[in-house]
Amino acid sequence: MKNDDYNNNDYREVTDAPADTDETAQSDKADIETADKSDADTGDKPGVESGDKSDDTSDEREDVCFVCRRPESKAGKMFHLMQGICICADCMNKTMTTVSTNFDYQGLLNNPNVSIMNMADLQGEGGIPNKQRLKKRKKGEKPQPIIDIKDIPAPHKIKASLDEYVVGQEYAKKVMSVAVYNHYKRVATDTMDDIEIEKSNMLMIGPTGCGKTYLVKTLARLLNVPLAIADATSLTEAGYIGDDIESVISKLLAAADNDVDKAEQGIVFIDEIDKIAKKTETHSRDVSGESVQQGMLKLLEGADVEVPVGSNSKNAMVPLVTVNTRNILFICGGAFPDLEDIIRKRLSKQTGIGFSAVIKDSSDKSADILRQVKTEDLRKFGMIPEFIGRLPVVFTLQGLDKDMLVQILKEPKNAILKQYQKLLEIDEVDLQFTDDALEAIAEKALERDTGARALRSIIEEFMLDIMYEIPKDDNIGRVTITGDYINGTGGPLIDVRTKM
Ligand code: ADP
Repeated sequence: MKNDDYNNNDYREVTDAPADTDETAQSDKADIETADKSDADTGDKPGVESGDKSDDTSDEREDVCFVCRRPESKAGKMFHLMQGICICADCMNKTMTTVSTNFDYQGLLNNPNVSIMNMADLQGEGGIPNKQRLKKRKKGEKPQPIIDIKDIPAPHKIKASLDEYVVGQEYAKKVMSVAVYNHYKRVATDTMDDIEIEKSNMLMIGPTGCGKTYLVKTLARLLNVPLAIADATSLTEAGYIGDDIESVISKLLAAADNDVDKAEQGIVFIDEIDKIAKKTETHSRDVSGESVQQGMLKLLEGADVEVPVGSNSKNAMVPLVTVNTRNILFICGGAFPDLEDIIRKRLSKQTGIGFSAVIKDSSDKSADILRQVKTEDLRKFGMIPEFIGRLPVVFTLQGLDKDMLVQILKEPKNAILKQYQKLLEIDEVDLQFTDDALEAIAEKALERDTGARALRSIIEEFMLDIMYEIPKDDNIGRVTITGDYINGTGGPLIDVRTKM
């Protein structure tokens, strides 16, 4: 039997094929019994412990042979070795045959009177980590859509849910709600007729800390779909130092709890996408820029990729599984500095050369300029046309102003202020912030120029003393943070509890 026969079998083909048509196993019938037979024969015979796992998810997951990479459903019961390594009977037999005479391991596994020690048990509780175990696919069953067509919330409902968490960014929320709605409609109908609905991969452009990641995270949580977040800066062309591009799918598989069907309908968010722009002045191979864009093309469009299970990199010790990216929604985000200048230049060329153009442009606000972004601007920035072409939904987010920062402090469902109030409530202390305190915090955050990200660290600074002192004194009933305290010209107001 050629080793290639096994290695070329991908998981999908293997699980979909009827058990008795496996040519690979059939051709070797003379030497060893087929893997499928062992699967059918073994059943739940007492005493055969090699494949039985004691954890409660054993029905849900299956092992993958470390040598031939076939899952348990195909290769039959496995020998469990140390470090979560499983080897199917065929491979074990082959190995032993090479070493000595032909030894019938298959028969050993199926013999109810023989109990084989599960070496993974020596590792204590848990044995093989679920990390490397795949969720079983039911034979012959089509994968179910992650969101039923009747349950996909309408765009206005998705936006209303986003409104509860994300302040401002009305346009972005609207565009995303519609795109996601269409995407999951496409997944749920899965029409294979003439009119195939195209994927609505997105590109979000907005300054740092304006809520790009937060929007995607909130969306994935609301829809209850797996989400993987990757940073484009760490990605490199396969074979170079750094994560290769397919590692993002591996992350998604982990987020989907190693359930391939679920992962195939998840969301991948790739942040800092502007960092993989084509480098203009480089004399060496651009392994982290243009090549990454090139490498991502097939993922964005939909391809079968072999990803390692339970690891970010492919190596001899991790099993591989095939994931199809056709129904994975890709969202890319980036700050795209200098894009504004590119748009400005284009606009001024359009409006003509001379005074009028310059005056008009300088009066435009930056958010308005960014909103006029076109494919050609992104191309000038360094994104390759094929890449932009696969992200049909492009939209911009605005930078946060003072009012929005104040809103972010107090309004969202899990607003920072509410979190601190809850913390102090446990000590039966009422925490209040005056309006000028909130404004002072927002002003400080604006100075840092990192968007809403600065808010938490600023509040943390001021709350440190308060959270240290309050538990000391049981008499404190209320603390009010004032603008003076934030600006360093006074202290917080402390009210003592009225005694009954
Ligand atoms: P980026 O745009 O750089 O991806 P993030 O989405 O990571 O920024 O934002 C950082 C944090 O700031 C988030 O975790 C969230 O708490 C807060 N935040 C940012 N923008 C908003 C917003 N519009 N509404 C509510 N919170 C926000």
